[in-house]
Amino acid sequence: MEKRFVYADNAATTRISESVLAAMMPALREGYGNPSAVYKLGREASGAVLAARKQAADALGAKVSELYFTSGGSESDNWAIKGAAQLGAAAGKRHIVTTAVEHHAVLESCGALEKQGFEVTYLRPDVYGRVTAEQVAAALREDTCLVSMMLANNEVGTIMPVREAAAVCHERGVLFHTDAVQAVGQIPVDVRELGADMLSLSGHKLHAPKGIGALYIRTGVMLPRFIDGGSQERGRRAGTENVPAVIALGQALTDAVRDIRGRAERLAAMRDRLAEGLLKIPAVTMNGHPTERLSGNLSLSFDAIEGESLLLMLDMRGICASSGSACAAGSTEPSHVLTAMGQSERLAKGSLRLTLGDENTEEDIDYMLAVIPECVARLREMSPLWKG
Ligand SMILES: *Cc1c(COP(=O)(O)O)cnc(C)c1O
Repeated sequence: MEKRFVYADNAATTRISESVLAAMMPALREGYGNPSAVYKLGREASGAVLAARKQAADALGAKVSELYFTSGGSESDNWAIKGAAQLGAAAGKRHIVTTAVEHHAVLESCGALEKQGFEVTYLRPDVYGRVTAEQVAAALREDTCLVSMMLANNEVGTIMPVREAAAVCHERGVLFHTDAVQAVGQIPVDVRELGADMLSLSGHKLHAPKGIGALYIRTGVMLPRFIDGGSQERGRRAGTENVPAVIALGQALTDAVRDIRGRAERLAAMRDRLAEGLLKIPAVTMNGHPTERLSGNLSLSFDAIEGESLLLMLDMRGICASSGSACAAGSTEPSHVLTAMGQSERLAKGSLRLTLGDENTEEDIDYMLAVIPECVARLREMSPLWKG
């Protein structure tokens, strides 16, 4: 089959869409005013920021005053967790509940708080990567100040019962945060319906540029300011606004909610065809929940191969994908998500994550179905672990 370029790593980042690029371009060229300035050029910039905030709020069912632009998902997670911990500490509450399968921005924020004397409970998921609201309820204590549970997992695509978990927290007067970075633009996300007090999202996961994100903070949640130094973002996050990126995020969110179900169905159909073909390979496991999952996500673990080697081989064939394992100093560590789900280290090391996006085509699927089985077979021929 003729070599082609296939981008199947949309959970890592996405391509900027033409509509987003068109929306942000004028602010990069002539609309360079500082939104805090009094003259027309500045007022136009602040008007554009407000319009983008309105677009973002509308896309999420939030109020304009509840959305705060940040530098991305990691910053939003840090702000929500460390801010809620500060509020908790002031009330003598130093216990946090989260899950073992969160993004590192959540896990390491919690880790930093542990060093400051907070206690963190990491809830273990089932084999599908799901944590239940009952587990959350059972983990709550008198001194719990925050629960942070992701809406959809970035590695295996599993969707968490966030609405139910948030309801449990509200009954007990505990703040609830959700990392919705992977979910926004993939499944309908309405902050009121979810009942979250705080929700993180990131632009570059939904066709806006890198370095822009938002934190939704429900009215009445007195989250402390995150950056000192100015009155931007209602005095809670100082720094001159990244106007082009803010405009991009507003446009990306507007686009993301348009025909969200139709787009998800299209991705699911392509993903299912890909899964069906790749599951014919011997000794392969599909990771994540069979139904409660993001439609563009396919996560597989192949026995007796190294995920990193497979990625390099796929790269030579023009396919961009990712592995659950993070390569640190030459040694590949199996994914914390797959191991928390109970997968053996050996199997987890052979994981492959393919995440489809709006730009993918049926031809991309055909190509991956031709190339991936061949690469797996070649790696196994060379593998001392493979006896098949
Ligand atoms: C990508 C991602 C983040 C981090 O977002 P950045 O904008 O890259 O900082 C956080 N959480 C999840 C679930 C993600 O997938």
